[in-house]
Amino acid sequence: MVCPPTVTRLGDGRYGLVRIRALAGTAACATDPLPGCACPIIDLRNPLYESKDSVLAPSDIIWHKEADVVVIGYGMAGAVAAITARDCSASVMILEKQAAGSHWSNSSLSAGLVVRPADIGGGIAYMKALCEARGSALLPENDTREGCRYGGGADRGNGCAMRGPAPWTDAETIRVWAEYAFQNKDWIESLGGQVRLVRRGGQHPQLPGAGSIEIWEYRGKGLPMMQLMYEQVASRKVEVLYQTRAVRLLTDADGKVIGVKTVVGGGQEEMNIRAGKAVILCTGGFEDNEEMKLQYLRVYPMYFTGGLGNTGDGIAMAQEAGADLWHMNCASAGLSAKFPDFPLAFPVDLSAKLFADHGASDRRGKGGPGFIIVDKYGQRYTNENFPSHAGWYQVASFDATRLEYPRVPSFFVFDQRRMGLGRLVRTFGAAGPHQLYRWSADNAAELKRGWIISGESAGELADRIGIPRSNLERTVRSWNDACARGRDPDFGRNGSDLVPLDSPPFYAVKLFPGGANTLGGPRRNARAQVLNPFGEPIPRLYAAGECGSVYGMLYPAAGGNLAECIAFGRIAAENAVAEAAMEGNGG
Ligand SMILES: Cc1cc2nc3c(=O)[nH]c(=O)nc-3n(C[C@H](O)[C@H](O)[C@H](O)COP(=O)(O)OP(=O)(O)OC[C@H]3O[C@@H](n4cnc5c(N)ncnc54)[C@H](O)[C@@H]3O)c2cc1C
Repeated sequence: MVCPPTVTRLGDGRYGLVRIRALAGTAACATDPLPGCACPIIDLRNPLYESKDSVLAPSDIIWHKEADVVVIGYGMAGAVAAITARDCSASVMILEKQAAGSHWSNSSLSAGLVVRPADIGGGIAYMKALCEARGSALLPENDTREGCRYGGGADRGNGCAMRGPAPWTDAETIRVWAEYAFQNKDWIESLGGQVRLVRRGGQHPQLPGAGSIEIWEYRGKGLPMMQLMYEQVASRKVEVLYQTRAVRLLTDADGKVIGVKTVVGGGQEEMNIRAGKAVILCTGGFEDNEEMKLQYLRVYPMYFTGGLGNTGDGIAMAQEAGADLWHMNCASAGLSAKFPDFPLAFPVDLSAKLFADHGASDRRGKGGPGFIIVDKYGQRYTNENFPSHAGWYQVASFDATRLEYPRVPSFFVFDQRRMGLGRLVRTFGAAGPHQLYRWSADNAAELKRGWIISGESAGELADRIGIPRSNLERTVRSWNDACARGRDPDFGRNGSDLVPLDSPPFYAVKLFPGGANTLGGPRRNARAQVLNPFGEPIPRLYAAGECGSVYGMLYPAAGGNLAECIAFGRIAAENAVAEAAMEGNGG
């Protein structure tokens, strides 16, 4: 039994000022996330911004603990990095800001899908195509000479021609991604994990190499996958310091990263951890940092289906150490359901487990439930089967005349057919194995608490959700006409999708741009070293996973993030262990 988390925002939400009630495990907490939930409060604020300390460690610094490799963040990337570094005979320590026993991460909430390119060449071709996607076919050639890959269009004094924007990610980093991701399945199985092949093909089948992508599913999804990682870490006697929040990287006078300043427990007690060889940032993204989401993402608000501990801490620490940032305006996201009285968004299952995830729409037979997505004026604006990890780009369209995002929120509109087919949310995330929220099997509890709104007619539904009645009536009429004709002239939905909305009552759920995770963070190279704005590695600083992911605007396929956590967790650890050991006190 776990207690669902509740959040109290402190101040104006700047810098992710968040308190989360953790999952402490009483039955009362499990059945209702809010009233009477006597769970301990973990403060997930990052006091980084309140500290006046310098990143430069004093020469007489007192180190409270030390390890060769210090890993910050205990999701999949952190676990893989720790396991790999330990297997390379380094001493390793993991710092995790959440408490043992109530810890969860994006990794443990995930669906446990992992990408593997079936052949390295195909993987490279696909990633290259994804990383060249900028939404325009008319861009000039990039300067591909050695040393010019990095930095692209801006002349940074390196003599590179300014021929056009760089790809989202450089070719060398793509190459190692493909080489390591190719081994993902074998790596998981080598630890005793069980995966099965669930799909072939990337999210964007029109791009070269997409056919090489395989999607493997960890048995039982993300939680058992992480349980395996926890066991593996424990069996290697890696020390995990829970409730230990990294707040600053510590450097010597040459800018080498030599350790981490942490704050322990819920209080302000500080502890300095010495890193004999390197620090690896695995702190995830900035899914729960309102300021960063506003400043960096392409639409606001955006709500994510995990990540309450991911407040961009690693990004800020890397910035202070001099890191360049990349992919900050990118995310793996579509539309998710967010309700004001629950802190996480939910991934929605639009047509009852049959929701087309890119090319999978052919799996849905006619007679599945009908559904449409409409904007806040009651109008459809897309083929609702848009690629699920890129859908948010479509929602981000801003109306400069009205000064608003007309698609935020959008509404998932369906009828009794879909309602009767079971839970509206998917089997991972908050309502997945972690059971942060217990979604009722027939959606009745969520209807009762107002998360699902109903109406006996399209007009009545429109009145209840506050959109123009005549618009929604017209939209539903036109949808039903399209279904009768077997053709969707407006947005080209598949024939098998053309199921009318004709079984009242009608229902709606508010949707926001959102989904799995942000992708931006410190720029890294093919060795997983964090780079400064001139493309030079910041000595002894590495990053893996979502904290500066290698993916840019387009995400390869469901399973891309965990693929990267494994690939770059390993790459970062292998290179970190090869660093020369620090001599002396370091300061
Ligand atoms: C519902 C859901 C389903 C998903 N399904 C999939 C899927 O099937 N396949 C896939 O590839 N991707 C999936 N994703 C995305 C994927 O789970 C994440 O991108 C990936 O797990 C990120 O792993 P990570 O190790 O980088 O970060 P995380 O797993 O988010 O871990 C980061 C950790 O760092 C800790 N931390 C943060 N700041 C600090 C600090 N200052 N000090 C100490 N610790 C800190 C956090 O508490 C957290 O434990 C899903 C995401 C969600 C939310």
